[in-house]
Amino acid sequence: MDNRKYSMIREALEKSHYTVAFCGTGMMKESGMPSMRDPEIAYEVEKKYGYSPEEIFTSAFYATRTETFFDYYRNEMLGKPLEPSKAFYALAELERRGKLQYCVTNNVYNLPGRAGCQNVMNLHGIVEENKCPRCGREYSLDYIITSRRTPLCESCMSPVRPQVLLFGEMVDNQRMTRAVQQIEKAEVLLVLGTTLNSGLCEGYLDYFQGSTLILINSTEHFLDEKADIVLHEEVKEALPAIVCPQ
Ligand SMILES: [Zn+2]
Repeated sequence: MDNRKYSMIREALEKSHYTVAFCGTGMMKESGMPSMRDPEIAYEVEKKYGYSPEEIFTSAFYATRTETFFDYYRNEMLGKPLEPSKAFYALAELERRGKLQYCVTNNVYNLPGRAGCQNVMNLHGIVEENKCPRCGREYSLDYIITSRRTPLCESCMSPVRPQVLLFGEMVDNQRMTRAVQQIEKAEVLLVLGTTLNSGLCEGYLDYFQGSTLILINSTEHFLDEKADIVLHEEVKEALPAIVCPQ
């Protein structure tokens, strides 16, 4: 707990007329969902399914080994109930106060939205959106979870496609453009639970022309010094303490 930095961040947020937050995988991990790229997770998955997450979670695998894809997706990605950490509620509170204008995230569980944030860009899509690739009919998350094998479209029997980004796929152009537009407007940029060179930040931070880049991440990285204020703490501990001091 670094009270001096808490005050600095609080002051920057207070003064800012436009703040954008980037929510990284560290925030997802704090909410109870480890990254698929975590070596231990990857090892367990490979033992169980015969393939690594990076092999299974691709469009080629979805197309050719659909049943295994959905086994993995249901068990490993949708298997345990995931609740937004306190950090996401702190972001929603900031937004209510008019001190946060936009959230950008690559997590697919809609955690900012579920905590109450209204203006969110889910760059990689969300698990709640599922569509038949052939006829476009939409399906609920529940439909995917409760299907016993491959969830098939009731109209045309095609496998339903979760509207989330798979490994190797490109982020939708319109989403990228909208995220860039937000960053260009930002006076303060909050980078949370990730590093400045992560997949989430890469290609976006160059567009930031504001005054203060704030980084909160529990692990240290050599690029951290590029930020104006750096806090090496868990986002779920630091952010609520900054937003709602006791
Ligand atoms: Zn269909």
